[in-house]
Amino acid sequence: QFESITMAPPDPILGVSEAFRADTHEMKLNLGVGAYRTEELQPYVLGVVKKAENLMLERGEFKEYLPIEGLAAFNKATAELLLGADNPIIKQQRIATVQGLSGTGSLRLAAALIERYFPGAKVLISSPTWGNHKNIFNDARVPWSEYRYYDPKTVGLDFDGMISDIKAAPEGSFILLHGCAHNPTGIDPTPEQWEAIADVIQEKNHIPFFDVAYQGFASGSLDADASSVRLFAARGMELLVAQSYSKNLGLYAERIGAINVVCSSADAAARVKSQLKRIARPMYSNPPVHGARIVANVVGDPALFSEWKEEMELMAGRIKSVRQKLYDSICAKDKSGKDWSYILKQIGMFSFTGLNRAQSDNMTDKWHVYMTKDGRISLAGLSAAKCEYLADAIIDSFYN
Ligand code: PMP
Repeated sequence: QFESITMAPPDPILGVSEAFRADTHEMKLNLGVGAYRTEELQPYVLGVVKKAENLMLERGEFKEYLPIEGLAAFNKATAELLLGADNPIIKQQRIATVQGLSGTGSLRLAAALIERYFPGAKVLISSPTWGNHKNIFNDARVPWSEYRYYDPKTVGLDFDGMISDIKAAPEGSFILLHGCAHNPTGIDPTPEQWEAIADVIQEKNHIPFFDVAYQGFASGSLDADASSVRLFAARGMELLVAQSYSKNLGLYAERIGAINVVCSSADAAARVKSQLKRIARPMYSNPPVHGARIVANVVGDPALFSEWKEEMELMAGRIKSVRQKLYDSICAKDKSGKDWSYILKQIGMFSFTGLNRAQSDNMTDKWHVYMTKDGRISLAGLSAAKCEYLADAIIDSFYN
């Protein structure tokens, strides 16, 4: 009977927005969820998205079912964006691409593939990582453990810890990597460190599993943000890559993304794709068309494509400028001599402030700044006008 069902706890990320909505304080600030806001802190629909939607209306595009694997034009565009259109892997048809329900749904398809075809294989995730990774692998019944990533002493990368944990994992494990703009820390390996990570993964016959949720959104460049994935792919490794268009095209609610599996042969890729379709069919039958058409139309039209790149640069630029402003405000107010430069070194929409749980609670309870309890703030939800206020809140919380 339903009477016996207990109350589930609120989601640690989406629950923050619920609490924010209930707060009536005029200075309240929502830095919990990672969604881009304008300088006026309003949601932003990209100009290219509106244009692509107008095109779709003009063309009178249909609403019939898509194939299980999604829209062909989208799947082609998304693999090309990821690897580069002239990548030999694409010509050799060694990549299996299936449209997914954004990043989350694409990760979930891959998790189901691992559970079915690599029974007992472990996924290694970074400590810390985006909270939903654990939910996804738990629900798919895929065993996981953590590798060291964040070093609280330096608020930087624990590179030696990461390498030795990947080395120590059972041969043939899946190593989940954030393609760029690591969530929640904003700390990425350098190109040299990526090479060394690829070395140990190859040595141990592990399979790299990239989560690419911020391509083009982190640095403003689609190519730069995919460089980690391309570096691995160029070594001829097999790999998994989940993609999301939530952030870089602002299509959060359209649920558009893809799972890509780079295989050793075209034949294997065809078989993998057939199995991904078999997993998707009983779960949701086939994916939604709207977001897929937007991506395909934007990428497929040279004018829209270059306009998209400009808008991504604009979003990434606004985030970088509030990051700088927040850092300047904190330094101007904090007379202790503490080095806050880690805030500037971090990449992407988040900043890992180094605030602990009690300090994060103070941010919310006293200052009405809503954030996750791990000390992460979303700079995409911050405006230049609010930087001073946020700096006061951070300093007060840090020292009290
Ligand atoms: N992976 C990471 C690391 C993320 O930060 C996010 C979004 N916050 C996602 C995946 C997936 O988001 P979505 O399902 O909206 O694409």
